[in-house]
Amino acid sequence: MLMNYNPRILKKVNDEFRLVASSCKSCNKTFFPKVDICTNCGNKTEEILLDTKGILYSYTIARVGPLGYQTPYAFGFVYIPKNDVLVYSLLTEYENLSIGMEMELVTCEITNENGQKEVFYKFKPVRL
Ligand SMILES: [Zn+2]
Repeated sequence: MLMNYNPRILKKVNDEFRLVASSCKSCNKTFFPKVDICTNCGNKTEEILLDTKGILYSYTIARVGPLGYQTPYAFGFVYIPKNDVLVYSLLTEYENLSIGMEMELVTCEITNENGQKEVFYKFKPVRL
């Protein structure tokens, strides 16, 4: 099983991956990717794990991508209501997306800049 992942982005909790972010206790702002110092007020932040449920905030469909990418693919911002933060993410599909739809965090496999496989994240529409 694939175990490599960037610990500044993902953390494994009870066999489930969660996104790592940071939160400022002084001004309540949440940052993803995490930062150590709040860019809003300058205080030190604390690491938090984001909720896995979000809402599609905006997206775009790429029909031409970097070498090795299968096109078309979609990416955009997913809003996480529980943490009040926008997460930039690839999406699992590009058809039948709509702003405001419910999304959930899933993991996928990517090839990193060193040519190694690693676990990464995407958001997937929740279809009932
Ligand atoms: Zn702050």
